Amino acid sequence: MSDQSAITLIPTPLDILGEVFGYSEFRGPQRAIVDHVIAGGDALVLMPTGGGKSLCYQIPAIARQNAGHGVTIVISPLIALMHDQVGALHEAGVSAAFLNSTQGFEESSALEKQMLRGELTLVYAAPERLNTPRMKDLLRSLHERGKLSLFAIDEAHCVSQWGHDFRPEYRSLSLLHEIFPDVPRMALTATADALTRQDMVERLKLEDARHFVSSFDRPNIRYTIVEKTDGTRQLLRFIESEHAGEAGIVYCQSRKRVEEIADTLQDAGIKAMAYHAGLDSALRQQRQDRFLREDGMVMVATIAFGMGIDKPDVRFVAHLDMPKNIEGYYQETGRAGRDGLPSDAWMTYGLQDVVNQRRMIDTSEAASEEFKVVMRGKLDALLSLAEDTRCRRVSLLHYFGEDSQPCGNCDNCLNPPAVWDATEPARKMLSCIYRVQQASGINFGAGHLMDILRGKPTEKVVQYQHDKLSTFGIGADLGEAQWRAVLRQLIAKNMVRVDVDAFNTLQLMPDARQVLKGETAVMLREQLAAEKTSRGKKATKTSVKGMAEAALNAGALERLGRLKAWRAEVAREHNLPAFVIFHDSTLRALAERAPTSMDELEGIAGMGVKKLEAYGAEVLRVCAAA
Ligand code: ADP
Ligand code: ZN
Repeated sequence: MSDQSAITLIPTPLDILGEVFGYSEFRGPQRAIVDHVIAGGDALVLMPTGGGKSLCYQIPAIARQNAGHGVTIVISPLIALMHDQVGALHEAGVSAAFLNSTQGFEESSALEKQMLRGELTLVYAAPERLNTPRMKDLLRSLHERGKLSLFAIDEAHCVSQWGHDFRPEYRSLSLLHEIFPDVPRMALTATADALTRQDMVERLKLEDARHFVSSFDRPNIRYTIVEKTDGTRQLLRFIESEHAGEAGIVYCQSRKRVEEIADTLQDAGIKAMAYHAGLDSALRQQRQDRFLREDGMVMVATIAFGMGIDKPDVRFVAHLDMPKNIEGYYQETGRAGRDGLPSDAWMTYGLQDVVNQRRMIDTSEAASEEFKVVMRGKLDALLSLAEDTRCRRVSLLHYFGEDSQPCGNCDNCLNPPAVWDATEPARKMLSCIYRVQQASGINFGAGHLMDILRGKPTEKVVQYQHDKLSTFGIGADLGEAQWRAVLRQLIAKNMVRVDVDAFNTLQLMPDARQVLKGETAVMLREQLAAEKTSRGKKATKTSVKGMAEAALNAGALERLGRLKAWRAEVAREHNLPAFVIFHDSTLRALAERAPTSMDELEGIAGMGVKKLEAYGAEVLRVCAAA
C-alpha cells in the first residue's frame, strides 16, 4: 500500500457526488450552491422541478457532518413521502431518519438519542412538528452541543399566500431564525414568480441569503398543445401510440371527470388509477404508493396530486383540461422526465375550457375584484401560449423572464403550424352577435350564432326570424371547428364575454370595436390542418418513446427487461419504489454496456460505492444470464 492510505482525506463535494450518488458532474448551479452552503452561507434556491434540488442540501449535509457540525434538519410538507426519501438515502449509504406523528414515543426517543450522539446526517420533519415543545427542546440541546448543522426548507413557496400551495404551518418556520440565528438556512422551491419569491425572503428572513436562480428550461420535455376534438379519444390515442406501458399523469379539472377518465383508460387495458381530494386519505396514500412502486402506472388526478412526487421516470404528463395559469401548467408538466430522458407534456384544450376557466374566475365569491383581474391576466397568458404559433418553449421561458431560441422539441417547432387571417370571419362573428341582439333584444349562445353564420335554417333560427338577418349565411365558407377557433380567440381577447348567468349566451365587449373598425387583425393557427398533416407524417415523426428505445439493440433490450424484473424484486423486498434502487437511466446504461466485471460497473451513472457493494455482483449475474 502507498503512503496515501495513511492520510484520511476529507472527501470533497465532488467525491461525495461520485461515491454516494454515483454521478460524475454537478448540474448547472449545484456546485456553487453546495460550496456556499458547506461554508455556512444562507441560500435561496430556485430551480425547476427535476433540476436536482435534493443534492443541493444532501451533499452539504454530508460534508458538514464529516466536518463535525452534526445533523441537518430537512423541513418537508409531505409526511407521506418521508419514508421513501429516507429509504433512498439509506440505499446510498447515508444515515438518515424522519420524525413524524406516526412514530411512537419509544421510536422517537431512540431517534432523538441518535441525533444527540451525532449519528444521523439528515433528519426530515414536517413544519408542524417543529413547533412542538419537545422538538424545540431537542433542537436547543443539539445547538448547545454544536450539533445543529443546517436547516433545509423544501417546497419553501408553501410559506407564501401568493404561491399555489400555501400552508399556514410554514409560517411557524420563523422560529428557526429567531431561536437559532447562527445556524445556516437554505430554502428551496420550483415556484419562481416574483411575488412568491419576495414573500419567501421576508417570511424566512433570507434578505442576506445568496439567491441562486437557475434556468427554468427542461430540454428533455417535448411540449404539445392540441385542439380538443374528442378529448378522451385523443388521450387514448396519445397514450397508446406514444407511451404504451409507461408511467404518466393525466390531469383533469373535476373529481367526476377524474373517475370517468380512469375508468375509460382501464377499459382500454391501461393500468390507471384515480386520485383526488374526495377520496379518503388511506386510499390516496395506497394509490400514491402504487404509482411510485409499480412500473407503468397512469395516475388520473386533479391537481391535488403531485407535489413532492419525485418519481424520476414519469414519461408523460397530459392535461385533458386546461389549467388555471402558466405557473400551474409548468409545475405540473415539470413532473415528467426528471431523469432527463425524453418525455412528453401534452395538452388538449378547446372552447369549453376557455369558458369554464373564465366562469370560475368571474363567479368566485371569495376573491376580490383586484384578485380576479390578476387571475384573468394569468389565464390570458396561458391562452396565448395555447394559440401561439411560435416555439412553445420560447413562450414559456419568456413568461419566466428568460430569453431563448426555438427549441426543435415542441409541436410548433416540429410541425410549424400554418396561420390564416381570420380578421374577416372575426368581424362577421362580432356583427352577427350585434345584429341578433338588436333584432331580438336578448343574447344567444355559440351554437345558435354559428348556425346563423353558416346559414342553417334550424327551428330556432326560423322561430326568431334570424334567417332574415343580413348576417345569415355570410359564413358558410367556414366549418364549425374554424368558427369555434375564431370564437375562442375573441373570448380570449375579451371582445366577447360568455354570460354565465344567462345560459352561457355571448355578449359583445367594448374591445370588439377594434376588430369591427378594422384596427386589429386576428391571426389564427390552422389547428385541424396541422393535426392532419402531423398524423399523415406519422411514419417520419419520431415519438419520444421511439427516441429512447431506438438506441438499444435486441440484446440490450432483453437485458433491460431482465434488469427491470430483478429491480422490481429488490424493491419489493426493501419496501421501496423501484427507482430508489436504480433509475431507469442506470439500467439502460447497464443494458447497453453489458458489463462483465466490477471494474466496468464503476463510473456508470447512479452506481455509488454503497450500491456497487450491495448490488454489483447481482447486477453482473443478471446481465450475464441469457
Ligand atoms: P428536484 O427536487 O429539483 O425536482 P431532484 O432532486 O429530485 O429534483 O432531482 C431530479 C433527478 O435528477 C433525480 O433523479 C436526481 O437523482 C437527478 N440528479 C440530480 N443531480 C444530478 C447530477 N448532478 N447528475 C445526475 N443526476 C442528477
Ligand atoms: Zn420549440
